[in-house]
Amino acid sequence: MGQKTIFQRIIDREIPADIVYEDEKCLAFRDIAPQAPVHVLVIPKKAIKSWADLGPRDGSLIGHIALVIRDLAAKLELAEGYRVVCNSGSDGGQTVDHLHFHLLGGRPLHWPPG
Ligand code: 5GP
Repeated sequence: MGQKTIFQRIIDREIPADIVYEDEKCLAFRDIAPQAPVHVLVIPKKAIKSWADLGPRDGSLIGHIALVIRDLAAKLELAEGYRVVCNSGSDGGQTVDHLHFHLLGGRPLHWPPG
């Protein structure tokens, strides 16, 4: 077993986080270095390393997370819109090896992301 990721430590309550939502399958908490007025990370509790590591049985989990993100965006009052981002691998800019979705909003977001 390799070392726990920082997100696994948040799931296991070994380090604190500003948790905004939790259920049996996923956890959502505020990013420690927010890039927008609302910047929440939504992660599966299952230890999946990245988008590329999704298995054939993970479809319903990802579907569940998609709906959790939709509901969180409403709860966090992102009525003007928002962005959902999943960085995968080093070229994708992934820095934590536990699958996570960024929910960003509260200001107009630029495109392309760079
Ligand atoms: P990535 O670059 O892998 O897509 O995103 C990782 C995100 O995790 C970054 O936005 C970073 O600010 C956030 N992050 C890293 N360490 C922590 C932490 O200990 N707590 C919280 N809440 N966010 C973290």
